[in-house]
Amino acid sequence: MLALRKNIPGPGAELVRVDLQEPLALGEIRVDVRAVGICGSDLHAHAWDPSYGFMAPFLPLTLGHEFSGIVAAVAPDVTEVSVGDSIVCWPTVTCGTCAACSAGRPGGCEGRRIIGLHRDGGFADSVRMPAANALPLPAGLPLDVAALTEPLAVSINAVNVAGVAAGDRVVVLGPGPIGMGIALVAHARGADVLLAGFRDDARLALAHDMGIPAVADLAQVTLAEAVQDYFNVAPDVVIEATGRPPSVAEGLAVLRPGGVLAVVGIHAEPLSLDLNQLVRGKKQLRGAHDSTSQGFAEAIERLAADPGLYARMITHRLPLAQAEDGFALARKGAALKVMLFPGGG
Ligand SMILES: [Zn+2]
Ligand SMILES: [Zn+2]
Repeated sequence: MLALRKNIPGPGAELVRVDLQEPLALGEIRVDVRAVGICGSDLHAHAWDPSYGFMAPFLPLTLGHEFSGIVAAVAPDVTEVSVGDSIVCWPTVTCGTCAACSAGRPGGCEGRRIIGLHRDGGFADSVRMPAANALPLPAGLPLDVAALTEPLAVSINAVNVAGVAAGDRVVVLGPGPIGMGIALVAHARGADVLLAGFRDDARLALAHDMGIPAVADLAQVTLAEAVQDYFNVAPDVVIEATGRPPSVAEGLAVLRPGGVLAVVGIHAEPLSLDLNQLVRGKKQLRGAHDSTSQGFAEAIERLAADPGLYARMITHRLPLAQAEDGFALARKGAALKVMLFPGGG
């Protein structure tokens, strides 16, 4: 079968033919992948950006964690899913035994592994994975839209960490797939949302078209001007999804006293920050990463309730055989979500 493999701890990945992997262990299933999205972390892992060195001991492996598919085989002890079921992958595999897992905080698991970053993932015709990480899909949810579950769950978690409530004024920085999902979820929960980007015409226009109340291109106005123009008062919440360190300082500067700034982007460089602004303004700075099982369930519900809306986030569709073209597109600002389809379909 075809698979996009990361073979060496350095830049690049290879699209290669590989044998079907070893037989299923207890608790595992084999899934025929039907749709798999290219995530920012796939781009970082492909380019071998500095914060992805953690993958080195796990190579070689097949990349890809945002996928849906059909169960093709199950180990004898598996009862959660059956052959033929449509599923989406929850990529976080927790150890179940560390202090965090034992205390019911699987998000803090020290032995946490991600399908597609620590073990073989979904940029392949088929993948072997734990049955516990396969979530059944409701009838009528198309598999391409279902492959948006993981990024939408990440967005939902960010909105939860930021404590967004109905009626809040929320600024979202960065109109990539995560920022767009954050804006959509915050808006759906009754917040008033301003989504800002930088030279991001296509994605901002799409966001506005998808119902985000206000968008701003920070190549034309400053963040402070955009906030003043739209809200006329300082926002309650700022959520940063750019990965550009100065965005955090800019967001903190426009936030109201006592407001919350949640950092979601993965930052390649450190930031120097005026903490007096944080302290005297009694502002809260929080980090949001990954997703939770509740977030996953909510993401599936939201996608199933309005698949037509979320399908618009998929701006490019390519066969897995053109994975490198897909990665090149995803690196350019114009693409929102690039979806790859194994089996040439
Ligand atoms: Zn992802
Ligand atoms: Zn654990």
